[in-house]
Amino acid sequence: MVKAEYIWVDGTKPTQTLRSKTRVLAPGAELPTWGFDGSSTQQAEGHASDCLLEPVFVCADPLRGGPHKLVLCEVMNVDGSPHASNQRVHLREVAARHQDQVPWFGIEQEYTMFRESRPLGWPEGGYPAPQGPFYCGVGADEVFGRSIAEAHLDACIAAGLSIYGINAEVMPGQWEFQVGTAGPLEVADHLVMARYLLYRIGEAHQTSMTLHPKPVRGDWNGAGAHTNFSTAAMRAPGGIRAIHVAIERLQERHAHHIAHYGEGIEQRLTGTHETCSFREFRYGDSDRGASVRIPPSTVAEGCGYFEDRRPCANVDPYVVTRLLIETVCG
Ligand code: ADP
Ligand code: MN
Ligand code: MN
Ligand code: MN
Repeated sequence: MVKAEYIWVDGTKPTQTLRSKTRVLAPGAELPTWGFDGSSTQQAEGHASDCLLEPVFVCADPLRGGPHKLVLCEVMNVDGSPHASNQRVHLREVAARHQDQVPWFGIEQEYTMFRESRPLGWPEGGYPAPQGPFYCGVGADEVFGRSIAEAHLDACIAAGLSIYGINAEVMPGQWEFQVGTAGPLEVADHLVMARYLLYRIGEAHQTSMTLHPKPVRGDWNGAGAHTNFSTAAMRAPGGIRAIHVAIERLQERHAHHIAHYGEGIEQRLTGTHETCSFREFRYGDSDRGASVRIPPSTVAEGCGYFEDRRPCANVDPYVVTRLLIETVCG
């Protein structure tokens, strides 16, 4: 028999979280539409609580192995219309409208590993040495949780997700993986699946994973989801001009993006710790204190992509991709 893990985004506010449950199916059987109790996921009232799960993306389940599957679903109302919590449907529409510009994305997902209410590598009741040696560090005194990050990378590869790389981050216990380069629906679906795998692997290691944008207050880096973006025009020779036009449009709609780039963004975008204040918009070549950074390869070649550094680790990937397409391609 095939164990199909149906995964969906719930209705928790202000930040939606993931839910999943298992369906046992005969080998080769089609994946059916399934239901769940929306009153337990903030997606329905108790008196009319049924919501539907519509499979939209399927991959191998690397944790169960064998013929087992992970099944990402959109949440629908019983009449088949998209549920109010369903952000993917809006991305679908916007992506279809601007398909001709061939938008590509790469999302750098930072996250923090916690055990017993403190990040991995943090001493009980105290602080580790100040930031400095931890980013891309090596050695048991500088890097914490590598075996977990490594197991997650292996799982993403085995699932067939578009995974680009991993690195240890600036704050001890903090890590990053990158998803992409891929189109909007693919990058967002794969990021949700990669987050799901991260949480599941954490369970097996008694480690909880948080996407909180500022998991530790004080002189410690927050956690972001830098979103790298390009269109066909930006990737073509002379594309730097299209990149500058895009950045002007982003500047005009700065407040709108900030409002949708993750709950708690003002705690992270303070103007220190490799960020630009959420109150300002600045861009620059190779500038990690900017809102938008143009990477050196793009400067050197005169075409390529830019990095929107504003999105927080807890951003909704269906929202950040949709907003970038709306603002830049619209
Ligand atoms: P950083 O130097 O900011 O840490 P990373 O190496 O972590 O950058 O991530 C680079 C990201 O850029 C990857 O997610 C990759 O998919 C993305 N990327 C590379 N080329 C493009 C492109 N042409 N369009 C969009 N994204 C791209
Ligand atoms: Mn990175
Ligand atoms: Mn990073
Ligand atoms: Mn980055």
